[in-house]
Amino acid sequence: MTTIKEHQGWVKEAWKKSSKKIEEKDELLFLMEEIGEMAEAVRKLNGNKNDKEFASDIEKEMGDILLSLITLAIRYKIDLETAFEKTKQSVIGRYV
Ligand SMILES: [Mg+2]
Repeated sequence: MTTIKEHQGWVKEAWKKSSKKIEEKDELLFLMEEIGEMAEAVRKLNGNKNDKEFASDIEKEMGDILLSLITLAIRYKIDLETAFEKTKQSVIGRYV
């Protein structure tokens, strides 16, 4: 199983090699765009509960969101594993 840290390292290297360069001002917009695409997939699934195609759309969009989030984390030098661990401890302290 690949860790969040390993995925983050892979994305960092992939963007270095990529011919596609995303400007800093667009990175948050890309994340928001992907969240919008997931909203559309969820809306479509809710209207077609038996349609597996829409369920796979949600999976795809979650992957896209994760890529965009990892890209933002790299930009702001955030270790997502540490960030999530802090959130997890906060949830445990409040709800679990
Ligand atoms: Mg997408």
